[in-house]
Amino acid sequence: MVVNEKVKLAITVASLVAATILLAAEYRRRRRRKQTSSPSSCYLHSDIKPQFGFKRVLADNSFSGFKHLKKKKLEDGGGEKPSDSHPYESEITALLESPRLDEFEFLRGEYSLEMSGSYVWVETESELKKLAETLAKEKVFAVDTEQHSLRSFLGFTALIQISTQEEDFLVDTIALHDVMSILRPVFSNPDICKVFHGADNDVIWLQRDFHIYVVNMFDTAKACEVLAKPQRSLAYLLESVCGVSTNKLLQREDWRQRPLSEEMVRYARTDAHYLLYIADSMTAELKQRGIEDSSSTDDKFSFLLEASRRSNMICLQLYTKETEDFPGNAAASSLIYRHLNGHEDNSSISLDPKFQELVRELCAWRDLMARIHDESTRYVLSDQAVIALASNQPVTPEQIHDSIAQADLSSDSSPSAVICSHLDDVFQLTQHKLGKLDVILPLVLDKCLGTEGTCPISVFNYSLLINFNTKLTTNRSTPKRHKSLKRFTRKTSRDLFVKKFSCKAPVYHNCRIYANDGRLLCYCDRRKLEWYMSRGLAKLVEEDPLAIMLLFEPKGRPEDEGNDFYIQSKKNICVGCGEGDHYLRYRIIPSCYRVHFPEHLKSHRSHDIVLLCVDCHEVAHAAAERYKKEVAKEFGIPLFVRRVLDSVECESAGGGDSEDAGVSPLHLRTAAMALLRHGNRMPSSRREELLQTVKMYYGGRDISEEDLEKALLIGMSPHERRKLERKKGVTVSVKQENSNNGSSVEEHSEEAPPGGDMNGESSVVGDDSGGDGAPELNDTQCNGNILHQQNSKLSLLGHGPHGKQVVEYLLKEYGEDGVRDFCQRWRKVFVDALHPRHLPGGWDVTHSGRRDFGEFSVYNPTKKVSTG
Ligand code: AMP
Ligand code: ZN
Ligand code: MN
Repeated sequence: MVVNEKVKLAITVASLVAATILLAAEYRRRRRRKQTSSPSSCYLHSDIKPQFGFKRVLADNSFSGFKHLKKKKLEDGGGEKPSDSHPYESEITALLESPRLDEFEFLRGEYSLEMSGSYVWVETESELKKLAETLAKEKVFAVDTEQHSLRSFLGFTALIQISTQEEDFLVDTIALHDVMSILRPVFSNPDICKVFHGADNDVIWLQRDFHIYVVNMFDTAKACEVLAKPQRSLAYLLESVCGVSTNKLLQREDWRQRPLSEEMVRYARTDAHYLLYIADSMTAELKQRGIEDSSSTDDKFSFLLEASRRSNMICLQLYTKETEDFPGNAAASSLIYRHLNGHEDNSSISLDPKFQELVRELCAWRDLMARIHDESTRYVLSDQAVIALASNQPVTPEQIHDSIAQADLSSDSSPSAVICSHLDDVFQLTQHKLGKLDVILPLVLDKCLGTEGTCPISVFNYSLLINFNTKLTTNRSTPKRHKSLKRFTRKTSRDLFVKKFSCKAPVYHNCRIYANDGRLLCYCDRRKLEWYMSRGLAKLVEEDPLAIMLLFEPKGRPEDEGNDFYIQSKKNICVGCGEGDHYLRYRIIPSCYRVHFPEHLKSHRSHDIVLLCVDCHEVAHAAAERYKKEVAKEFGIPLFVRRVLDSVECESAGGGDSEDAGVSPLHLRTAAMALLRHGNRMPSSRREELLQTVKMYYGGRDISEEDLEKALLIGMSPHERRKLERKKGVTVSVKQENSNNGSSVEEHSEEAPPGGDMNGESSVVGDDSGGDGAPELNDTQCNGNILHQQNSKLSLLGHGPHGKQVVEYLLKEYGEDGVRDFCQRWRKVFVDALHPRHLPGGWDVTHSGRRDFGEFSVYNPTKKVSTG
């Protein structure tokens, strides 16, 4: 037995150990699998690119526009030009208008064409300062630049070659990137001529990287143009003018490398060294041609002047960042176009909407990844790789990898490091797991640069990030957004908007109210039920979902009145498109009219307040605002109150006969506000203008500070006024004028039950007065001038006065039918604008909506107090 027990124990221990080992192995295996399927780290954590050492970058990878140098003009009181104009425009225009002929002397005294064995490598700040001092003494120097563009989104200047008659300088613009402004003065000095060959790109590259602007230039390529030379390349000039050959292939070298190879140094020096000699010889030629061609002595310089003019025109160019409607859009369109043209036989693939969609998605993703990692888009994913992925539609990460490698057969670094460390993204993108195009980008940005992001944040992508409103944002005022960003950020701001304004809980609780004979009267929300219950007017008949039965006899039944609408349960979705994730209440009949309806016509709210998603809301609202303008025209009743006049002044002015007495309440308010805030700082002419506006309200008399304060309140509803008081922390004392027009426009009495009509779910109904941002008001006419009669609810600043007059007119001319027709018109406007596909059954443009439940109705004003 003992032995047996030992064996048993041994077996138990052995199996436990085995199990542990197996578990550990499985654990390791799982971990490994997890690591390979989602690389936790971006290649940039180990691949340090030289530009990441730059501390300040003028053109970053965000979508915001490029800000040009702002030159403080000392002579005219420090007035600054806008950042999108050329800071040296006037200097350049001056050169264009009056060129100085004595300047075209590029060489002086002894000159040896040969390139000496030595040159100056400039890589420290002090060396750069010394160079600037040297150049400041010259009348002319030659310039060329070398760029790097493959491993950078916008490209950067890797080297500047500068040659004087005596020396060749190679400026290491990577090492000196942040202090290159040291050279700004010599480049913008109109007394020093800069000789380039084909400067179009150099000029804007210098602006982009260093805010260096060239003023006074001689471009030997422009001279070629004017002289109609058979070729205009620098290689041709070097050969034909200097007898020097150069290997232009070196132009494509990686100019970031340090130290530069001997061959590259030689190439770089060659591009600048001979320019002064070439310019000198071409100037002579231009003068000669002028003399040959001219009939008078006046225009013997015309060729030279033309070359100079064309050169300086180049200087006027401004660097701008490329923009497009949506990231990668232009590239995608041209790819699709080129592919379609090259593959007539294969058009079944290319015309496939899935192919085109994938091309667009890949291009958008590629664009954003290039910006995030500061790589060129072609480095991230080549055009042929995009086409390959969109055509093959690979289904595994391995297939994606192979598709790209195959497409880039000639390249030995394919797929790129970006693809390798973010293969999962491409995989999800190709499998459509990331969603539609507009969600992909914020998602990708958050994945890469968000708080849990995989990729490093740099000077190049920081602004991209803060412009996106993602988690890292330090809620400071974001820079003005670029047009191309609009659609891009629209998604983000839409999300914020939805979060802020959409209904927090389902709007329709779909609780039921039954009549005492058991017939369904309507659906409504919980609060309405509780209102009837707490007053002993109903009994609970069902718990889940809630249902009550009224204990009194309701006046009518929905089916008797053709109001089937009220006995439909309602879905918590946008009635326009069916969106169910978020919705907002939308009032089909604008509040500025509806508040003035007779009480019993108002009560069918639930029919005319519907749920809409943000996008449908926008469409419907825009249509309603347009229609309001039509109503204003049709009825001849303006949307805004045109004139107010202080009543006291109105009387003393003899009833305000004059048509132009008074001012618009909005004008009055803004004028008073501006005067109070900036009165002593504004130009006197502007101040006088604003004072006139306010004086007009006070009948032309002189006004005090107190009058200004009072003017601020004109047209405000008490609600708005209370808000202002709360903000200022004081009670604004202003003489309240009594309303002599007693009609009650009170929307909700304290006694009113929650919610609108019987089906009006309380949360649907809410506070009508805030409906369209146009609080309601009362007003009376005073000989054509509307006097502000401040009723408890009214404001003159919105559409309230318009709404009131329209409704009064309708009632006077057509009675209640007029109001009903008016409602139908608004429903039609709504339907025409949106073509809603999800309106609840029974919803009807011609809805008459007389709905109340008789003497105990929540809308029977006389019963309100007694029931409560
Ligand atoms: P260059 O002044 O002719 O040496 O050209 C200046 C810079 O322009 C080079 O450093 C390249 O970055 C860029 N570049 C000009 N032409 C080409 C080209 N055909 N291919 C690639 N890069 C070019
Ligand atoms: Zn990354
Ligand atoms: Mn060059």
